[in-house]
Amino acid sequence: MRVAVVGSGPSGVYAADALVSQDEIPVEVDIIDRLPVPFGLVRYGVAPDHLSIRSVRDTLNKVLAKPGVRFLGNVVVGQDVSTAELLAHYDAVVLTYGASRDRRLGIPGEDLDGSVAATDFVAWYCGHPDADRELFERLLPTATSAVVVGVGNVAVDVTRVLAKTVGELDHTDMPQHVLDTLAASSITDVHLLGRRGPAQATFTTKELKELGELIDADVIVHPDEIELDEPSAALAAEDRAVGRNVDVIRGWADRPNTGRGRRIHVRFLSRPVELLGDDRVRSVVVERTRLTPDGGVEGTGQMEEIAADLVVRSVGYRGTPLEGLPFDERRNVIPHVDGRVVDGDSPVRGMYVAGWIKRGPTGIIGTNKKDAVGTVESLLADARAGVLPAPASPEPIEDLLASRGVDVVTTSGWDAIDAAEQALGQQSGRERTTIHERDRMLEIAQG
Ligand code: NAP
Repeated sequence: MRVAVVGSGPSGVYAADALVSQDEIPVEVDIIDRLPVPFGLVRYGVAPDHLSIRSVRDTLNKVLAKPGVRFLGNVVVGQDVSTAELLAHYDAVVLTYGASRDRRLGIPGEDLDGSVAATDFVAWYCGHPDADRELFERLLPTATSAVVVGVGNVAVDVTRVLAKTVGELDHTDMPQHVLDTLAASSITDVHLLGRRGPAQATFTTKELKELGELIDADVIVHPDEIELDEPSAALAAEDRAVGRNVDVIRGWADRPNTGRGRRIHVRFLSRPVELLGDDRVRSVVVERTRLTPDGGVEGTGQMEEIAADLVVRSVGYRGTPLEGLPFDERRNVIPHVDGRVVDGDSPVRGMYVAGWIKRGPTGIIGTNKKDAVGTVESLLADARAGVLPAPASPEPIEDLLASRGVDVVTTSGWDAIDAAEQALGQQSGRERTTIHERDRMLEIAQG
């Protein structure tokens, strides 16, 4: 059986691993990615200073080296090859292309210059080839106060990167131009805004705690915003993860301001209602909220204006549709039953989903393993039941791609980029430095 996996992030690689690790049905897997390099958000999402999480890439890399697995990078599904063509070349297709777009706030001023999506900022500091380098090189050295909207782990990553000294980051694989721009940043205040209370925040304690451990940043909380109402107190008592978050935040309330160079203002019950500015964002109008019995929030009408010349909207990712396939516009995922893509009540034979495009942008990297294994079980059950459509084309996919002038980066091409990144890092005493230019990656891959 031949299977195409679309997307080489954790769910794609875990799906490939599950397919080649069983011995009932011999399987060959091609992992296709639109970028010349694999690993999706492990490379372009996990914060570069989270070295142990980033080391997941070593585990994923071992899967690419397994017999029966090939990497086909720099291939854009929906542009270079359609999903229908994939189904004509493979017995099954597993879509694991994630959720690459940002969710919107839907408030006035959201598109002012200086207001950016966390997805774009994260892509930039991770060295994504499509990142807008000039934008951040212009914004960071000219900003003094940043507002980060949202209190999930991405918001915490963004806040930490903005508040760290460059000395706390220069051992990472961040490209040199990113380190140089962060060194030139003039930001002294970062305001992290949660629209609900500390008990409802989605960050995890380990990540949260790090904000209080930075060399040159004080953490400031407002005692009146961290008082728990009765349901929140019950939640903190029942759920240990919530209780730990609340303890960390309360601990900060008792800490004196030590006069460090930067301040992280961790705010709750505060939602942005408008971004103000002229040629660039200058402030955020924030409304105090109160929790409602159903777990939501409502505005109190009490307004405050926070000065901000950089606003990072970190309110979640969203998936996008792929031509010719059903899409749930409300949840921004591909509809499925147990990983089998469905169009209304009808199965789309041979088509499967795993990861964020299946369940939405939730969970940690490990969550995708169970998710991908579940999808592969459905696929293998369908193969056993003989319901997979037979591939119509005997032609290898690489011939089709070559006829269209696509410069496919294979596993050996990726290995060459990998080696070049390690060599580049070693020049400055680092383990690795990310190569961010697409042309350079292609050049190295082609030897
Ligand atoms: P997230 O955890 O869903 O956080 C989104 C945040 O945006 C929430 O605080 C949410 O508040 C807020 N929000 C949504 N709409 C809003 C609005 N209109 N106005 C104000 N606030 C709004 O998502 P994420 O931070 O993007 O992370 C995505 C996933 O990746 C998560 O599962 C996360 O744990 C994971 N991740 C993990 C790590 C790690 O393990 N180190 C690092 C990064 C990401 P409400 O709750 O009130 O909606």
